[in-house]
Amino acid sequence: MHSFEDFQAIVTPDEPLAPQTWFRLGGPAAFLARPRNVPEVVALIRRAVETEVPVRILGGGSNVLVDDRGFPGLVIHLESPAFSDVTIDGRKVIAGAAVPLTALISQTARAGLAGLEVLTGIPGTVGGALRGNSGGRQGAIGTFVKKVTVVDDSGEVLTREQEDLRFEYRSSDLDEPIILSAAFELETEDPETVVRRMRRIWIIKKENQPYGHQSSGCIFRNPSPEISAGTLIERAGLKGQRVGGAEVSDRHANFIIAHPGAKSADVLELIDLIRQKVRQQFGHDLELQIKIW
Ligand SMILES: Cc1cc2nc3c(=O)[nH]c(=O)nc-3n(C[C@H](O)[C@H](O)[C@H](O)COP(=O)(O)OP(=O)(O)OC[C@H]3O[C@@H](n4cnc5c(N)ncnc54)[C@H](O)[C@@H]3O)c2cc1C
Repeated sequence: MHSFEDFQAIVTPDEPLAPQTWFRLGGPAAFLARPRNVPEVVALIRRAVETEVPVRILGGGSNVLVDDRGFPGLVIHLESPAFSDVTIDGRKVIAGAAVPLTALISQTARAGLAGLEVLTGIPGTVGGALRGNSGGRQGAIGTFVKKVTVVDDSGEVLTREQEDLRFEYRSSDLDEPIILSAAFELETEDPETVVRRMRRIWIIKKENQPYGHQSSGCIFRNPSPEISAGTLIERAGLKGQRVGGAEVSDRHANFIIAHPGAKSADVLELIDLIRQKVRQQFGHDLELQIKIW
């Protein structure tokens, strides 16, 4: 009997993870859970802690690379309607962790609420975006957060208020196992103006990032606000560099594209090569932005 035998309705053993990620690489999860409500999330976390099974949360899978051997623990995929609601009340917006960012941005823009359009073109869900304070030059999600509801590692559901949250460059202190939902406060503005701004941001993103390929966004964090990882990789002459089926994008050097037949091991080897060359040439140790499972 395994640790999640009595969760049969929501837990599948040995479930492939590749189709759930943007890279489409890597092996299965020992257990994949699709909880239907908060009590099921809480019960799963408690069981995993009791039985010392490692846990990961999967949102949209746009910032994750799964090892070819898979993940030897429990992956909780928040995707059910219970985590996918958006409610708008004046300038206040509450969104479930599984809401796709694109849906949240378009709903708030249509409601004449400005702010979140700065995230246009970023795939993934509200939960994943909050965890890593996703954003870009125009701003990041953390700026608009009023509170976040989480499940901590003892299985308690807690609400963390704005004053108690820290959002920094591509990181947050939301380190509880699960983010369930968040409340945002936005500014009112003419919907047409917000939508125009969304379109402008989307055009710039499409020009500069390799959409339409299997990739996972920026692989490395920028060493500082003045020094971009992409520029260092490009200056090291690595655009177009390949290892097996993995290639440094020639459109944006901080993206790795996975061609058909690629393995996670190819991406990992290419990551090592990039780090080594950038260290040798510029003395910077590039830190990973993507999560490797
Ligand atoms: C083409 C492309 C372009 C991108 N452009 C940008 C960009 O401009 N700016 C940017 O910041 N990012 C960008 N990204 C990266 C990625 O889209 C963001 O980081 C996104 O917010 C991740 O969300 P996700 O739901 O896909 O998270 P996942 O990839 O599923 O998970 C990422 C991390 O968040 C955790 N997580 C996910 N959901 C939850 C939850 N409910 N509770 C707790 N933890 C959770 C996971 O455990 C994991 O550690 C890009 C990615 C791609 C593929």
